[in-house]
Amino acid sequence: MTFVYRRSYRGRLSAAILDWAGTVVDYGCQAPASTFIEAFAGFGVPVTVAQARAPMGMAKRAHIQAITAMPEVAAAWEERHGRPATEADVDAIYERFLPLQVAMVEKHSEMIPGALDAVAAMRARGLKIGSTTGYPRAVMDVVVRAAADQGYIPDSIVCADDTPQGRPGPFPALKSLIEMSVHPVEAVVKIGDTVVDIEEGLNGGMWTIGIAVTGNEVGLSLEEWCAIPDWEQAQYRKAAKLRLAAAGAHYVVDAVADVLPILDDIEARLARGERP
Ligand SMILES: [Mg+2]
Repeated sequence: MTFVYRRSYRGRLSAAILDWAGTVVDYGCQAPASTFIEAFAGFGVPVTVAQARAPMGMAKRAHIQAITAMPEVAAAWEERHGRPATEADVDAIYERFLPLQVAMVEKHSEMIPGALDAVAAMRARGLKIGSTTGYPRAVMDVVVRAAADQGYIPDSIVCADDTPQGRPGPFPALKSLIEMSVHPVEAVVKIGDTVVDIEEGLNGGMWTIGIAVTGNEVGLSLEEWCAIPDWEQAQYRKAAKLRLAAAGAHYVVDAVADVLPILDDIEARLARGERP
């Protein structure tokens, strides 16, 4: 056969799948970073902020495992405990982490400025709003309640323990699509503030938008961000955008409030027959 015919989706976007911490709540993704440090300190092993933030976005047990595998942390663990960290140790750190995390998210579930309006505008243009997170359900119960009190109620909430494997695999995002009865994946945009958020969307065949300034890659609270001079903000922004772009994000913006023009651009690309 000389020619084959290929189906191509030319419709509009049907859904956005939003991450939680650093994307719609918890400006600067403050809650998890300090909790990892505290949990490891409980085992006599010091962890830096940079180490605690590096695997951000993964399911929290996998995140703890990733920290223990870092050469400096692995060495510190062995020095303190006389042997390398085992799976049982990772479980023990996770057990200590969970209640600390629940207490911490109580203080860090404020909606990021502009997020509510952005979600309302996405709904107004016909998008369903799905969500995925690296938090397990026990932690999300607190965050979901706090977000609902502020007016944010997504159509689907997939937690880290709702799929056998989480990010960077596509499974949480795909589960969210199933829950919302949305297809094809080309009609979906995944929006998040970490490298594994972007990988989750790309692995699922979706469009991706990285969130640079309000998320983990800058890692500053709103007060801290506003307190630094323009040149320093520009440095932070550039580094964060580079990391998310290097992960393969189709677009990178400062905050979820900035995604609306991007949605127009994606729909124009779909209309031309492009796919993610
Ligand atoms: Mg996040």
